[in-house]
Amino acid sequence: MRLSLTSNKVYKFAYIYFIILFAIMTYIYISKDDIKTKFQNSMVLDLKHHYKIYKKVFKSSDNTRSILIENDNFVDRSEMIEQFTKSTPFIIKKEEKKVNKYDITFAFFDKDTKTPKNIDRLIDRLDKREYITEISTDQISLFGKVYDKGYIYITQYIDDERQIDSSIDMLFIELSLFALINIVIFIYFINLLKNNRSVASRMISEFEQLKEDTKKVAFEDTLTKAATRLKFDETLKDLIQIASRFEQNKFGVIMFDIDNFKYINDTHGHDYGDFVLKSVANAVKNSIRGSDTFARWGGEEFVVLSPMNDLEQTHKLAEKLRIEIESMELPKCEKVTSSFGAVVYEDEKSGDEIMKRADKLLYKAKKNGKNRVEI
Ligand code: GH3
Ligand code: MG
Ligand code: MG
Repeated sequence: MRLSLTSNKVYKFAYIYFIILFAIMTYIYISKDDIKTKFQNSMVLDLKHHYKIYKKVFKSSDNTRSILIENDNFVDRSEMIEQFTKSTPFIIKKEEKKVNKYDITFAFFDKDTKTPKNIDRLIDRLDKREYITEISTDQISLFGKVYDKGYIYITQYIDDERQIDSSIDMLFIELSLFALINIVIFIYFINLLKNNRSVASRMISEFEQLKEDTKKVAFEDTLTKAATRLKFDETLKDLIQIASRFEQNKFGVIMFDIDNFKYINDTHGHDYGDFVLKSVANAVKNSIRGSDTFARWGGEEFVVLSPMNDLEQTHKLAEKLRIEIESMELPKCEKVTSSFGAVVYEDEKSGDEIMKRADKLLYKAKKNGKNRVEI
């Protein structure tokens, strides 16, 4: 019961877990474009941040048109040049240069040279601000003034869509892999749980069997299959309790002992003695009611408890049993007889008292010649 509860919990947990995982993946898929835009924006911001620090434009020579954007953070100019050359070559030697890392185009425009219209517009706006950053969905433009000689125009085409797509695909692959690993782990645990359950249920059934066997040993005599003393004592106690409360619920007790059993044993052997014991027990069992209790009192002595019987009926039953045993047809043995003591409940307080009375009568039956009933 507890086991099935645990496994239910595991299933429930896994169910919720996979739903959440699936929801995350669906969310990523649906908001793919959103993520892409955010990703792009973050790159844009990164670029803006990167270039914001350059303040002035330095032109070393008119001929080469090399420019250098100065940075206040660097005291040593050569150090700065070296540093920025590493990441993006800020010393522009050609009109246009593509830097692989950012896919950035640098362009230098002479003030007097004719420039495309949009550049003109940017130059107009340059009067207001020293630097202008234009960001469209697919392009970032950074525009700066180079003293009176011209302007620097830096563009970065956001050509990273493929990169973003592959990043998202990668994320999907990673998540799917993660889900797969989780499924494998989940299946492993379920199997472990199933194994544990089968081991546990086997143990439970073994335990039940053991319980059943123990009960049998405690309550049923292995040789004769009659009830044991333990079972008999319990039933007798119950009957006394009921009879002491309700007078009409009297019950009879019959105690009997096989006559000359030692002789049977000695003459035909112990195994034959066992056979006689079993035969007597069977004969008695077949002659009593289902509500009667038949028990082995010890050795070749037996007892019968018959509820709702008065002395006359108990006497009759004992007589019936005596005849049944006497008329058994057994090999080797001519006749097996038993002596009986029969009593009914008479306000006794304990089982001992009533059994003592029955025992006395049984002794009397033996003394009076055996194979008889005394009441
Ligand atoms: P009486 O007529 O006075 O009862 O004489 P008896 O020989 O029947 O009585 P006694 O008490 O002298 O002998 C009983 C014998 O029963 C002794 C014992 O070895 C034997 N016996 C007790 N239990 C078993 C059993 O389970 N199997 C066999 N084969 N014999 C048993
Ligand atoms: Mg005997
Ligand atoms: Mg005896």
